[in-house]
Amino acid sequence: MSLQLYIERLEEFSAKCGAPVIRNPLASGIFGRVEERHIVLRTGLSLEQQILTLAHELTHLIAHCNANPRIHRTVCEYEAEAVERWVGAELKLAPFAEEAPDLSSITDDLLAGSVVRVRWAACTLVDAARDGVSAALSRERLQA
Ligand SMILES: [Zn+2]
Repeated sequence: MSLQLYIERLEEFSAKCGAPVIRNPLASGIFGRVEERHIVLRTGLSLEQQILTLAHELTHLIAHCNANPRIHRTVCEYEAEAVERWVGAELKLAPFAEEAPDLSSITDDLLAGSVVRVRWAACTLVDAARDGVSAALSRERLQA
């Protein structure tokens, strides 16, 4: 499946979640961020970087932005990075294409609550990229 198609599906999922994706020249070192009603991607990223950055920012959007009680920012970053690796390994994206096929090792250093969120977010986003928005939304409803 083409990387461009993964990007289009993840963007469609983001829009369905209320945060359409826009592209801006962000400060150096920043690939993306969640703003109030958008996910902002840095212009000029490679296709792989766009997918991994979307996975990272979508994790914040679907798992962290409305969390109650709030999740500590450092924990949020660990989780978003784990989801990024997971999605990268599943979709065979550099630099994660060679990760061990045992995806559970990706969450080895995380707390139990994080493992649950990371698995759910990663599976939701892989569904969105591979099978489209409706597959991802049905999984998202399961969590509630
Ligand atoms: Zn982040």
